[in-house]
Amino acid sequence: MDFEVTYTEEQQRFRTEVRAWFAANVPPSITREPASATEASENYRMRRELGRKLGAKGWLFPTGLERYGGGGLDVDHAIILEEEADRFDLSLPPFYDSGATMGAPTIAVWGSEEQKETFLRPIYRGDVRVWQLLSEPSAGSDLAGVKMRAVRDGDEYVLNGQKIFIGSANGTDWMWTLAVTDPNGERHKNLSWFMVDAALPGITVQPMELLGSGGGSGEHGHKNTVFFTDVRVPAICLVGGENNGWKVASTHLELEHGGGGHVGRNRLWEGILSYCQKHDRDGQPLIEHQDVRDILADIYIKSEIGRLFGLRNFWLTYARHPKTYEGPQASLYHKYAGLWMTGAILEAVGPAALTTDPRWGSEEGFLELQQRNGIVAVHPGGTADIQKVEMARRIGIGRTTRQAAGKIV
Ligand SMILES: Cc1cc2nc3c(=O)[nH]c(=O)nc-3n(C[C@H](O)[C@H](O)[C@H](O)COP(=O)(O)OP(=O)(O)OC[C@H]3O[C@@H](n4cnc5c(N)ncnc54)[C@H](O)[C@@H]3O)c2cc1C
Repeated sequence: MDFEVTYTEEQQRFRTEVRAWFAANVPPSITREPASATEASENYRMRRELGRKLGAKGWLFPTGLERYGGGGLDVDHAIILEEEADRFDLSLPPFYDSGATMGAPTIAVWGSEEQKETFLRPIYRGDVRVWQLLSEPSAGSDLAGVKMRAVRDGDEYVLNGQKIFIGSANGTDWMWTLAVTDPNGERHKNLSWFMVDAALPGITVQPMELLGSGGGSGEHGHKNTVFFTDVRVPAICLVGGENNGWKVASTHLELEHGGGGHVGRNRLWEGILSYCQKHDRDGQPLIEHQDVRDILADIYIKSEIGRLFGLRNFWLTYARHPKTYEGPQASLYHKYAGLWMTGAILEAVGPAALTTDPRWGSEEGFLELQQRNGIVAVHPGGTADIQKVEMARRIGIGRTTRQAAGKIV
C-alpha cells in the first residue's frame, strides 16, 4: 500500500484556493507562544474567530454532514484542508475541541433528526466548543464503571456526580457525558449519553494542576474537575436512547482510540532538528556529533511511522473504509514512540532538555515540555495498556468473536 496521497488537477486547484484563504485569514500571531494570561485568552479569542470563519465555509468540520452545515467533503479534500492548516501550525478545529471532533460524529450516528439539527449545526459553524466528560475518580480505564447518576424527572434528567481530567483552559459552551440511568441494570446496559449546556446551574469547573500544565497556549495542558449538583438537563439532550450509552460511546471511542487518525507534519521532529542545528556541544553543533545523528535518525523513523499511521487512519475513516485494529494500533504506537522519544531527546541534548532557562533550553521551552508530556501522553484517550487490550480484541486474541470497530458515518 502506498501511504502517500496523490491529487487530481481539481484537487490541486482546491489546494491553491485553500492556501490563499488561510494566508488571508490566519492572524500571523495566532501560533506565537502567549507570554501572559491576557495574551493566552486573546489567542483563544483569535482561534475561535478563525473557527467561525472556517465554519461559515464548511471547512471547520470538512467531512461533517452537509445538510446540517458540515463541509460534506470527501477525504482527499479534507486532507488538503488539514495539510494547509498544518502549514500554519494549526489543526482543524484551530482550538481545543475534542468534545466536538468526537461528539459530532457520535450524534451523526446515534442522534434523532431533531438532535442533529439542534447540536450539529452550531458545532459545524464554530459557534460552540465542546468538552468530553468521561473519566471519574474511580472510572478511567474502566469507563463502563462510571458512577455519575442521571434520574428522569418529567421532561428533564437530573445529573449528579464528578468528572476528572476534563477539557482545557478558557471554559466551554457544551459538554457531553456518560451517566448511569439504570443503577440495577446489567453492566454496559445501564448508561446513557447526554449533551449538556455548560451554563446550566449546578455545574462547577475546578482547574487541576498536572504534570503537563503550562505548555502552549495553556489549552491542552490545562485540565479540570467538573462537579454536577442537581443539574437539570432537558430530555432531548439524551442521545441514542436510554441505557444505550455504551453503544453510543463506541463511536467516539473509535475516534479517540486512534481511529480518527491525524494529518500533519511532525512538529516535534522539526523542533528537535532545528535545536540540534543551532546548539553546540564541546564547540561543535549537536547535529555534527555521531551519537546525536544516530538518535536523530531513529527519532525521524519513528516520527514518520507515526505520521503515516495517522494519515492512513484518517483516510480509512473518512473514505468510509472498514477498519479493525488500525485505531488502537496507531494510538499504542504513538504513545510508546512518544515515551521513547522523551528518553532519546534527553540522551541527545543532555540536561538542556530539562530546563526552560533560555541560555540552555529550547526556544519556547518545547524540549522541557516534551520531557513532561511524553510521560503524560501515555494516559489520555485510553492508556497504552488499554490500546493494547483493544487491539488484542480486534485481532481476535483472547476472544472467540473479534471486537468490531465503532460505527462512523
Ligand atoms: C492529559 C490528560 C488529558 C485527559 N483528558 C480527558 C478528557 O478530556 N476527558 C476525559 O473524560 N478524560 C480525560 N483524561 C482521563 C484519561 O482518559 C484517563 O486518565 C485514562 O483513561 C486512565 O484512567 P485513570 O487515570 O483512572 O487510570 P486507571 O484506569 O486507574 O489506570 C491505572 C493504571 O492501570 C492500568 N490498567 C487499568 N486497567 C487495565 C487493564 N484492563 N489492563 C491493563 N492495564 C490496565 C492503566 O493502563 C494504568 O497504567 C485525560 C487524562 C490526561 C492525563
